[in-house]
Amino acid sequence: MSKDGIVKAHDSIRHLIDITHYDDHPDRVESSEFAANKEKIHKKIAAGELAPCFINNGYCKDGTEVHHRFVEYSAGDEVDYNLVHIDSPINNPDDEDNLEPICKRHHIGSATGKHSMSHSSWILQKYLKPASLALFEAAVSHLKEHVYPNHADKTHSDHRAIGNHAENIIKTLAAK
Ligand SMILES: [Zn+2]
Ligand SMILES: [Zn+2]
Repeated sequence: MSKDGIVKAHDSIRHLIDITHYDDHPDRVESSEFAANKEKIHKKIAAGELAPCFINNGYCKDGTEVHHRFVEYSAGDEVDYNLVHIDSPINNPDDEDNLEPICKRHHIGSATGKHSMSHSSWILQKYLKPASLALFEAAVSHLKEHVYPNHADKTHSDHRAIGNHAENIIKTLAAK
C-alpha cells in the first residue's frame, strides 16, 4: 500500500517468459491468398480506408507489415477452428480477417512491438494521452540507448534462438 493512497509515476520493466508450443509445420511460404490479401490491405491503406498501423500513434516507423492477428502462421494446423470461430470466422491463418496492418516498429520492435511485449502494454500505446505517451517513449529511448544498446528487434526467423534463450532462462530459474 502506498503512503498517501497515490502510486507515484514510474516506468516498469518486466522480463517476460513467453512459451509457445508448435507442432511440426511446413516452412513459411507466402501463399497466394496471403499475397492477394496483403495487396487488398495496402490498397485500402492507400485509399485512406484503413490506418497503416493498428497502433497509429504518431511514433510509427519503417513501413507497414501484415500481422497474423488471431492465429499465427506457424500454428495454422494445430488450432481448432471451432474455437477460433468464437472470435473470428477465419478457417486458415491467411484469411483476410486474420490479417492486420502494423508498422514494423509496433510489430517486431523491441519494447514497442506486438511480438515483444504483453498485449496490455502494447495496446496502451494506442490509447495513451499525448503527454503519457511521450513519457512512455522517453522510457523506451532510455532503455534502448543506455540499458540494452545491442538488443535487436525480433524477426520471424529467430524463433529458434529465442526458444533456446527461453530454455536457458527456465533452467536458471529452476536452479534457484
Ligand atoms: Zn505503428
Ligand atoms: Zn506478427
